[in-house]
Amino acid sequence: MKYSILTETYERLEKEPGKLKKTEILSELLKKTPNEVLPKVVLLASGKIFPESGSEKVGIAAKMMIKSLTRATGLSEKEIIKEFKKTGDLGMVAENCIQSKKQSSLFKKELTIGLVLDNLQKLSQMEGKGSQERKMDLISQLLVSSKPKEARYITRTALETLRIGVAEGIVRDAIAQAFNIDKKSVENAWFLNPDYGEIARIAKEKGEKGLKKVSLKIGKPYIVMLGESSPTLKEALEKYEECMLEYKYDGVRTEIHKKGDKILLFTRRLEDITDQFPDLVELCKQGIKCEECIIEGETVGIDPKTNQPIPFQQLSRRVQRKYDIKETIKKIPIRVYLFDAIQVNRKTFLDESYKVRRKELEKMINPIKGKLELSHSLITKDLKEAEEFYKKSLKEGQEGLMVKNINAKYQPGRRVGQWLKVKPVLEPLDLAIVGAEWGTGKRSKWFGSLFLACIKKPYSNEYLTCGKLGTGLSDEQFQELTKQLKGLILEEKGTEVRLKPEVIVEVGYEEIQKSTKYESGYALRFPRLIGFKPDRKLPNELQKIEKLFKQQP
Ligand code: AMP
Repeated sequence: MKYSILTETYERLEKEPGKLKKTEILSELLKKTPNEVLPKVVLLASGKIFPESGSEKVGIAAKMMIKSLTRATGLSEKEIIKEFKKTGDLGMVAENCIQSKKQSSLFKKELTIGLVLDNLQKLSQMEGKGSQERKMDLISQLLVSSKPKEARYITRTALETLRIGVAEGIVRDAIAQAFNIDKKSVENAWFLNPDYGEIARIAKEKGEKGLKKVSLKIGKPYIVMLGESSPTLKEALEKYEECMLEYKYDGVRTEIHKKGDKILLFTRRLEDITDQFPDLVELCKQGIKCEECIIEGETVGIDPKTNQPIPFQQLSRRVQRKYDIKETIKKIPIRVYLFDAIQVNRKTFLDESYKVRRKELEKMINPIKGKLELSHSLITKDLKEAEEFYKKSLKEGQEGLMVKNINAKYQPGRRVGQWLKVKPVLEPLDLAIVGAEWGTGKRSKWFGSLFLACIKKPYSNEYLTCGKLGTGLSDEQFQELTKQLKGLILEEKGTEVRLKPEVIVEVGYEEIQKSTKYESGYALRFPRLIGFKPDRKLPNELQKIEKLFKQQP
């Protein structure tokens, strides 16, 4: 299928502001797309180069794109930067440059969707010495073969900022509309197999029946069930007829997939962290007694000197670490607290109550003290007993409690109010850095403040600003952060820059206020940086800010 068919749709989507119309445009494209290219079209239309469930990263920043454009067009970097400053969109710059260059030359070959995607995916495999050069060569070759409009969208796709306003919700609705299927069925299938490309293919080939058959697969991460915040322990206890209280640990939610001797580990953001945690793999081999299973737990970092849990911030260094793993294991040992059994020996437990799932889990675990344990739990409705348990959790350095409805089934991807989190109030927020302002005077070479944003809905890619972080960071921290953020600049206007929302920070604050100044409608008063959240691709949702706003004293 020709890439130009996709770019025509991109252009229509870009011009169309309405969500319903956008859904219709995308669904028309999906209908006419041949089955075998459908996954690729869906991926590209979502502005992605890889499905969510993978660890591949493309890593192209504006700077590298500018260099690739000089190679493709023969224009100087200065000329390209001048154009870039006018619109802040390298896609438009690419289109204009290719347009003026192409007037005299004939197009060589027609680009296909497969070719464009394959080449963009190759970018992630280029690592090590000389990889920057090779990446620029590959991008410029693609640009040389493209028509002007294709150059616009190839550039934006490589930068992972397609700007056509197609969020995940639109992709879901377009699949539903194109193949005449209920949206909920599309979404439910996606929770179990989080790849809309695959889901679209199944919807087209097998319809709703096919989607209903989508099931968990060992080795494929799914979207986990989530909890909601509860203002008080008392309210949480009153919510359910029967509940199990558990310590809430401050670690990494871990999906453990076991098949024979093979163990795979995933985070709740679907990242494969098996290589980073060989110690956990070993513990799972020793402590889980079953042939095949998918179970869940929280992996917590431990201070080797005190044997106490360490904050997530410190553990997160292990999540990112790709080398010197042995050293890091010694510095930051871990302990896993298991709490749920999702699938055991080919039997799925999704529709079973938590009571049943927990029993199943208990049957198959050989605890290893201090290493692999079941989560601390207590079945009670008694407030006094619950309060004692809560205090104990906090005293032992944990975050608080999870109060779980013991009769509820497991609902992937949902905050359905069957699990409630109870933590001391004004819990910090995880927010994305979406922009920054250059400092003034002697600080003019670094960013002096950072714009923070939440996301509109779970897994959405719509970012809404909610505050500006300026204090609480030393000059050194700003310098360090500037280095890290510079590669993410998307647009620069005056003293402000817009950034790719890749850096997620944990932010404390004194109060949440209503505000018209920020897109979210809320402003954080006195935000301060607590730390970085490298294992999170997505920040908190707007709903969480709304909830915290209502809960604050
Ligand atoms: P939050 O990140 O505040 O939305 O809290 C939800 C997270 O709490 C989950 O994703 C888990 O990683 C974590 N968690 C810690 N302890 C538990 C537990 N006992 N049961 C379920 N989730 C837990």
